[in-house]
Amino acid sequence: MTTDSPQAALRLSALRDAIDRAARLTDRSGDDITLIAVSKTQSADAIRPLIAAGQRVFGENRVQESQEKWPALRDEYPDIALHLVGQLQSNKAADAVALFDVIHSLDRPSLLTALAKAMDAAGKRVPCYIQVNIGAEAQKGGCPIADVPALIAAARAADIPLLGLMAVPPADVEPAPYFALLAKMAREEGLPRLSMGMSGDYETALMLGATDIRVGTALFGDRPTPARPVPKSGRGMIRNSPAT
Ligand SMILES: *Cc1c(COP(=O)(O)O)cnc(C)c1O
Repeated sequence: MTTDSPQAALRLSALRDAIDRAARLTDRSGDDITLIAVSKTQSADAIRPLIAAGQRVFGENRVQESQEKWPALRDEYPDIALHLVGQLQSNKAADAVALFDVIHSLDRPSLLTALAKAMDAAGKRVPCYIQVNIGAEAQKGGCPIADVPALIAAARAADIPLLGLMAVPPADVEPAPYFALLAKMAREEGLPRLSMGMSGDYETALMLGATDIRVGTALFGDRPTPARPVPKSGRGMIRNSPAT
């Protein structure tokens, strides 16, 4: 694939058009929406065409994979922003703080403590989203809905900048009610941003107020190797792979 791959440019512009449409329908502009290109499992060569086409915000779900892939690319393109969208182990908090510009997966007190400590040590505050287990799924990451207000209060007390709420709704069911619930929770907590919506449901998410959508396959095509064994999910998405 060449750096100026027309396919990547076409996919990006088609996605941008869809984002503009949905933004207008909700009295916003496409420029108000952050498109996070989720590049997990994609090689630097697969990522370059999107950078050439103008994309500057990327998402990864594993700390170690990101450490291998991104420092070289960011040397070339210093204006790239890197978001961590996967679950984060507390023992990787310092690495995550060093590498990422935004963390979408703050979901428990132990991780909050580790992140606060890492941010203090690095002299750097990394803005975070609280990830909510919006479908109350046992196997999934995310803070239980009932515990969200306390986690928000603790993050504020620890001086961790909070952007908003993030969630991945249950697979194989209509996601709209879950997006609406997340939007309501963010409103009640006075948090301005909503990280929700993936390749299969970003338009629905945008109609319900998403400010950040996390899109992988619609930009890159199918992932070369699954980040972990493909779940039973029919939407074909790898959800919530732990950062390793
Ligand atoms: C992989 C992933 C995405 C992107 O999924 P696609 O279906 O490829 O768009 C979004 N969010 C999270 C948390 C992910 O792990």
